[in-house]
Amino acid sequence: MARNYDVVVVGGGSSGCALAGRLTDRPGLRVLLLEAGPLGSLPELRDATSLAATAPRHPRNWAYAAELRPGNSHIVPRGRGLGGSGATNGANWTRVTPADADDWGVPGWSYADLLPLYVRSEHDHDMAGPAHGDRGPVPVRRAAGELRHPAVGRFLTAAARLGFPDELDKNGGGPPGAGLVPSNACDGVRIDAATAYLTGERPGLTVRGGIPVARVLVDGGRAHGIVLHSGEVIEAGEVVLSAGAVATPQLLMLSGIGPRGAVADLPGVGRGWSDHPAVFLPMADVDPQAHPHAPSSPVALNLDCGADPAGDAEVLLFVRPFVPGGDLHLMCALQAPDSRGTIELVSDDPRDRPRIAYGYLRTEHDRRRLRHAIRTAAELLRAGLGRRTAPDGDVLGNDRALDGWIADNLTTSVHLCGSAAIGSVVDAELRVLGVDGLRVADTSVLPTVPRRGPSATAVAIGEKAAELLAGCG
Ligand SMILES: Cc1cc2nc3c(=O)[nH]c(=O)nc-3n(C[C@H](O)[C@H](O)[C@H](O)COP(=O)(O)OP(=O)(O)OC[C@H]3O[C@@H](n4cnc5c(N)ncnc54)[C@H](O)[C@@H]3O)c2cc1C
Repeated sequence: MARNYDVVVVGGGSSGCALAGRLTDRPGLRVLLLEAGPLGSLPELRDATSLAATAPRHPRNWAYAAELRPGNSHIVPRGRGLGGSGATNGANWTRVTPADADDWGVPGWSYADLLPLYVRSEHDHDMAGPAHGDRGPVPVRRAAGELRHPAVGRFLTAAARLGFPDELDKNGGGPPGAGLVPSNACDGVRIDAATAYLTGERPGLTVRGGIPVARVLVDGGRAHGIVLHSGEVIEAGEVVLSAGAVATPQLLMLSGIGPRGAVADLPGVGRGWSDHPAVFLPMADVDPQAHPHAPSSPVALNLDCGADPAGDAEVLLFVRPFVPGGDLHLMCALQAPDSRGTIELVSDDPRDRPRIAYGYLRTEHDRRRLRHAIRTAAELLRAGLGRRTAPDGDVLGNDRALDGWIADNLTTSVHLCGSAAIGSVVDAELRVLGVDGLRVADTSVLPTVPRRGPSATAVAIGEKAAELLAGCG
């Protein structure tokens, strides 16, 4: 059968759109981008301050049932539709820290290797110099003028009072501290990878929406294409899975690639991944209502809980200006957790959701550091940021009581990474071990969740995969 496509990319999210866009910037390759969800946008997806698409029944949310800790079930959002999670996320645009890349120690994935990918992807309107891009497709800005929530200044002053250093450029690769969070929103409009990369005439690119892929077609140790839920087969020279850190390991396992897999026995598929556990500390809002386009999380303190100079915790001011009267929280998150999660098939039916267990806060080291982040947030409030409304002082001062409060309020930052990691599932060129013609390009491949949000890195992975696939026609 004649192949119609050189490359089929499964999943039109942050990585998949960047990859498909870069592959078809120049004519030559025939690329098919398949997205399970819809292609069109919605007003609430354009509004960067809106988290409407994280509601469990929203059509652009996969809303996976997951267990954060034994007995603690949760519905975890993930973007469904062109743009993927990048079309529904908080629009915080941060890079990995140099320490993350050093910890990974993967050839070709050092901080110096990643830097040109970040630079190429962005147009930073505030920061100049060789570490920042000025002509990439993704606009990057920090909250200024009327878009800067009044609490931002108090946050920075409180952090300085407590002796935390400034971090003027959160994408500068320097030591952690307090500073404005870069955002990929432009005048309140979220610019996701689909909007940024899939522009203009692209004769080589075919994009199909509402097309869930069921599995990869593998024969004789080589991927030849994919099979859709409908049973339709599409052949291609190269298959790239960019279905995100939940669906990509699911697709691998459905294709016989995973623990005790018939095609390839790769125990790392769906195992050993990490994400940032988090809790929201509510605070009383004394401010006038913020401008409707003020970014939702404009300022953050990244801090060292004791022995991680790169910063293993984060306190982020979380604003929801669309709520009448304002709504402010401090999101306290553990950024370099020890705990690891699992994703397993419940059946061979691709329509069945996988079983997801985060295994959060399994170690005392993780619990201690999250307590430290919460107590730091409470100190910021006391140092002039605002009034804490929970937990009360007795709980805050007692480790056991605070652990109980955390268990009751635990959530996730939704930064899942490492479910098909470089080293255990793919090589440094993103090729699935033991299967020719098959790669993974999404946050599944990162060995651990980075110390900062992974959105910019998901796009950088798409840029990297495009480099690796450039000559594949
Ligand atoms: C609510 C939310 C808020 C977040 N906020 C931030 C933030 O502010 N900053 C930050 O850095 N990170 C944030 N993140 C994380 C960040 O957005 C993601 O890590 C990143 O977008 C992941 O990119 P990806 O390409 O790996 O996967 P995704 O962008 O999730 O793309 C995967 C795509 O594959 C499609 N797909 C799945 N299964 C199939 C199938 N079988 N066939 C075809 N297509 C399929 C999906 O529909 C989706 O479009 C947030 C995530 C969420 C969900």
